[in-house]
Amino acid sequence: MEKGGRVQRCQPLTLSDNNPLTRTKMAVEAYCVKCKAKRDMKNAAEVTMKNGRKAMKGTCPTCGTGMFKILGK
Ligand SMILES: [Zn+2]
Repeated sequence: MEKGGRVQRCQPLTLSDNNPLTRTKMAVEAYCVKCKAKRDMKNAAEVTMKNGRKAMKGTCPTCGTGMFKILGK
């Protein structure tokens, strides 16, 4: 029994919560070539390209097309 009773957490996001690099994974906007519009990427994940630059990869929430966004360094 806890007093106060407000300590419950709904999101067990312990992994990347205080990491400034992974914090961006909430909503990443990218251009969908199929919708011809900007969308919030689904399943966005950070990837590093061959040239060492970072990018986000995900899918369009509307049409499911793969999306890609270059982040720079
Ligand atoms: Zn789309």
